[in-house]
Amino acid sequence: MKRLPLHWKIMIGMVLGILFGLLMTRFSTGTQFVTDWIKPLGDIFVKMLKLIAVPLIVASLIKGISDLKDISKFKVMGLRTIGIYIVTTIIAISIGLTLVNTFKPGNGISQETVQNLKDKYASNTSIQEKMEEATKQKESSPLQFIVDMVPDNAISAMGDNKLMLQVIFFTILLGISLLLIDEKNAKPLKEFFDSLNDVVLKMVDLIMLLAPYAVFALLATVVVTADDPDVLLALLKYAGVVVFGLFLMVVFYSTLVGVYTKKSPIWFLTQIAPAQLLAFSTSSSAATLPVTMERVEEHIGVDKEVSSFVLPVGATINMDGTSLYQAVASVFIMQVLWPEGLTFSNQLIIILTALMASIGSAAVPGAGMVMLVIVLDSIGFPADLLPIGLALIFAVDRPLDMCRTMINVTGDATVSMVVAKSVGKLGKPHVQEWDDNYEKV
Ligand code: ASP
Repeated sequence: MKRLPLHWKIMIGMVLGILFGLLMTRFSTGTQFVTDWIKPLGDIFVKMLKLIAVPLIVASLIKGISDLKDISKFKVMGLRTIGIYIVTTIIAISIGLTLVNTFKPGNGISQETVQNLKDKYASNTSIQEKMEEATKQKESSPLQFIVDMVPDNAISAMGDNKLMLQVIFFTILLGISLLLIDEKNAKPLKEFFDSLNDVVLKMVDLIMLLAPYAVFALLATVVVTADDPDVLLALLKYAGVVVFGLFLMVVFYSTLVGVYTKKSPIWFLTQIAPAQLLAFSTSSSAATLPVTMERVEEHIGVDKEVSSFVLPVGATINMDGTSLYQAVASVFIMQVLWPEGLTFSNQLIIILTALMASIGSAAVPGAGMVMLVIVLDSIGFPADLLPIGLALIFAVDRPLDMCRTMINVTGDATVSMVVAKSVGKLGKPHVQEWDDNYEKV
């Protein structure tokens, strides 16, 4: 067991979690048992991952920047990263739109199903909350997200996991200033962050010891709280289109890795598998970030100068899976409820708004659905049909969230490799020999 690679251990935990969840649904008190006694382990694990996200971003970004010989390189890397993120997101949205227009999953949905889903979910509190959140976002200026990126208090920015971009902004300013001051004065701070960086990476290893058990808890919880199979069945074609689109994104990433970086796509996917599996289990790219960083740096060989910037920024703004889902979901909802809105120009607007919406989506479970409201709103979708539209896709949102988060994380890892290669910073993996087996722990 000790020798088994980490991703296999996680995979076994996931399968056992699903089976255990299914078994528990057969007992009348099973769901309660899982939420009372099993779920807390998953919650603790996610909290621990989030706990180390801010120190890890700060330490590794400062180390990354202060190792730079030349600041202009940072500018090149920054622009390249943002550019590639935008292009991959547009590709994801285009794949989504092509598939949903080809397979038309909305056309097979009967009025009876719509009525059932409407009765079941339209007044669901979670849907109401998502709509309220979306209204708040809609009311702010389009440039508000840039204003929000700049913190006015460094400590409170670091105290809130939702303010990741503020932390990145502050850290970049700190790192660049550190480069510009006298080397003698910069040394103590640099050494401090160097050491902090190593310590936090070790914390990732330690926390990952829990991963196989935690994913068991997370997946058992998802299974016992899932909807009835007949509701899921009605939405099978829609869910199938999203999943097929996400699969095509993996093919796209693998091709990019193979052709541009000349590394084997299978090797790439195996190296980042633990991060992908955690993204799937937690539905949060923010919670997965520490593991993504550790895998990409140590197991793939992307230099810290690149990964420390590309990955935290990507976790917040690059969500290819989410944008693909938003494109498919919005057209699917239109096919069912508002077919007259399915014009070519509306689909062009979807490309733009889904791009902005995926940038604006928080890296937490269910955020993609909030921003879907904004996408629908931008094409003039009738406001009174909105809760029905969300009710339509609500039952399958969690499983699709799990899948799209996995793609969000894979996209970030791919871009970090591509950017690293383009600036000559893709080196050799440097796994500490006991990383996966923890023999010395
Ligand atoms: N859960 C996704 C993430 O964290 C965002 C979303 O699509 O809801 O990446």
